[in-house]
Amino acid sequence: MPAIRTVTVLGTGVLGSQIAYQAAFHGYAVTAYDVSDDVLEKARARFAGLAETYKHDDVAGARAGRADAALAGLTLTADLAAAVADADLVIEAVPELLDLKRDVYTKLAALAPAKTIFATNSSTLLPSDLKQFTGRPDRFLALHYANQVWRYNTAEIMGTADTDPAVYAEVVAFAEGSGMVPIELKKEKAGYVLNSLLVPLLNAASGLLVDGIADPATVDTTWRIATGAPAGPFQIFDVVGLTTAYNIAAAGPDAKSQKFAALLKERYIDKGKLGVATGEGFYSYRPAAV
Ligand code: NAD
Repeated sequence: MPAIRTVTVLGTGVLGSQIAYQAAFHGYAVTAYDVSDDVLEKARARFAGLAETYKHDDVAGARAGRADAALAGLTLTADLAAAVADADLVIEAVPELLDLKRDVYTKLAALAPAKTIFATNSSTLLPSDLKQFTGRPDRFLALHYANQVWRYNTAEIMGTADTDPAVYAEVVAFAEGSGMVPIELKKEKAGYVLNSLLVPLLNAASGLLVDGIADPATVDTTWRIATGAPAGPFQIFDVVGLTTAYNIAAAGPDAKSQKFAALLKERYIDKGKLGVATGEGFYSYRPAAV
């Protein structure tokens, strides 16, 4: 029998709701925790929306009853002690703020049974930044999902030097069991595998644009034809969302990042063109007028 059967997800925002729903969809007993009943009401709507999305995107079995069964299999609570009392695995998906996460782990360490494995979904913090607050560094690691987990179903698994290899293996098995493709990192690395590859590509593309060397369509066409990739970097920017791209570029220390941030703001963001989500970004996604 797999070691992990009961899963608790902390935070029911963009990623937490997806992680909880995906695990429930694959038959795990899932508890979703958030800070108040008001927030949990919003989570209920998110979960219902995810059930519809799984059906719409024709995730295997979704239309045959699994999407609705997953909803029924989710328990929502604002009581942290109750949420973790029987958890084999707690996946933390609370906001990306170091102090907030430390506080969450300190509370969690006191409440969760000794058997519970803790995993962080943090995109930018290393598990080493948090391990001392978990009370169980040997049962702690990162388990990192990408947005739209049912579609982009990689789960990057990254321990610290303290993580017990048996715990790591149990989390790999959970990732597989919940419909994810485990991506096993042997050491800690900011950005994991995916962003270690993607960020330099996106930076190179924005550099070609702000230096006036090539326009987005030329860059993307080159990348698609020469590598066989389905999308070029500016198409990826549109999927990520131009507000996120702007926030990252604006925080960049170099002049090129600042120039790209200014271009994004002036040509796109100020005009409400935020990428695929608004129907227009570097490209238009609006249906053709009839
Ligand atoms: P979000 O802001 O959408 O959701 C955060 C949730 O945490 C909210 O529901 C909030 O009420 C809740 N929360 C706040 N304080 C809490 C506490 N003390 N205990 C429990 N819940 C609390 O954030 P998100 O985009 O889902 O990101 C969450 C984590 O996932 C971050 O670490 C982020 O780096 C990571 N992540 C995000 C993405 C993404 O595309 N959004 C992708 C991969 C990883």
